[in-house]
Amino acid sequence: MDYTKFDLIVVGAGFYGATVAERKAAEGKKVLVIDRRDHVAGNAFSYRDQETGIEIHKYGSHIFHTEDDGVWDYITKFTDFNDYVHTVPTRHDGKLYPMPINLDTINLLYGTDMGPEEAEKFVAEEAAKAGITEPKNFEEKGISLVGEKLYTTFIKNYSEKQWNTSAENLSADILSRIPVRYSHDDRYFMTAKHQGIPVDGYGKIVENMLDNKNITLKLSTSFVSIIDQIPESVPVVFCGQVDELLNYELGVLPYRSLRFEAEWVNEDEPEGADSKLGHAVINEADSDVAYTRTHFYKYYQIHEPEVMNQSKSYVVREYPADFRRGGEAYYPINNAENEELYEQYVELLHERHPNIMLGGRLGAYKYWDMDKAIRFALDFAANLEV
Ligand SMILES: Cc1cc2nc3c(=O)[nH]c(=O)nc-3n(C[C@H](O)[C@H](O)[C@H](O)COP(=O)(O)OP(=O)(O)OC[C@H]3O[C@@H](n4cnc5c(N)ncnc54)[C@H](O)[C@@H]3O)c2cc1C
Repeated sequence: MDYTKFDLIVVGAGFYGATVAERKAAEGKKVLVIDRRDHVAGNAFSYRDQETGIEIHKYGSHIFHTEDDGVWDYITKFTDFNDYVHTVPTRHDGKLYPMPINLDTINLLYGTDMGPEEAEKFVAEEAAKAGITEPKNFEEKGISLVGEKLYTTFIKNYSEKQWNTSAENLSADILSRIPVRYSHDDRYFMTAKHQGIPVDGYGKIVENMLDNKNITLKLSTSFVSIIDQIPESVPVVFCGQVDELLNYELGVLPYRSLRFEAEWVNEDEPEGADSKLGHAVINEADSDVAYTRTHFYKYYQIHEPEVMNQSKSYVVREYPADFRRGGEAYYPINNAENEELYEQYVELLHERHPNIMLGGRLGAYKYWDMDKAIRFALDFAANLEV
């Protein structure tokens, strides 16, 4: 391929890369988009199962939510969203509790019937009981915020599964606050001005974004394997991992990963009973359940009652997993040591490949929701001269 004919190469067809490519193509620039996967949309990718119509979120549940009107105006040029509002109950001892913790969570757990003021006073007293003023670790911080019972039931085991270590070994800094609502509000994204699920799925949004005569899409292609063929005169936006790009010369940037176990079930059979509960996601709070979340994707499709109401369901159990070099990088571990390693990589990249700019959540070594990835990409593209 003659790479010199492009004004810009974007590596990564996730929301960040697709937004940068779409914005530059709209200005008349010729853009090549490369992704090593055989599909677009990055980690947000979903596709429709032909038999059931269920939209399968390949890398875990994705709910679009934003407070940013600019992002909403931009993304709705490429898709309609349904009116889904996300709620996530947490399962403890077979019973479901609203999460984040609200008035109903508290009353259900303690078997009480408190009103908002009484409950707030009660939780403050529970938190004060342990007398922790300077928490030394995650566990002490959690207890000092909401008291032992709420912390142990809903926060401790879930977090220990996520991090695969005891809460006593985790830093208190990870837990800046535990949201508690003294109301019945069980919306997961309480401050989201806009939220929903794209009616034709996430893959289709990005296909629409890249459907432009100025964009060439090359899937199943790893940038690392073609980097030697890219002339230095062509600017590149790289939305992958910088340590991989530089052959892990300074070491591996740490992440937490995930593993998904999926199965088709029939809701009328005992093994499908959980799906009948009608939730898209259930958090699993107990330590004897190894997975952290169970997903029932069909319940996102509120705009297609025939999909939701069929007896077949696709169930996915999400297990936290250690990250190994070359594996799926999900959540960066942003402590001071890792940030420093990242900064060293950024410097090295500027020295070696001055034409390569980092973008996207992997390139930035940050966790971003989709709307943030789009917002940062819109701002970046607006300032990028190619
Ligand atoms: C489990 C989970 C659940 C999430 N749920 C939500 C949610 O509900 N709502 C929400 O707003 N956000 C959610 N997110 C965040 C969302 O996934 C990200 O915001 C979004 O994926 C960021 O887009 P991106 O383009 O930066 O990165 P990505 O989507 O990761 O895209 C990067 C792309 O670059 C490609 N790439 C990487 N390296 C190379 C290489 N060397 N050569 C070629 N291609 C390469 C990858 O294949 C990938 O397609 C969730 C994230 C996780 C991990």
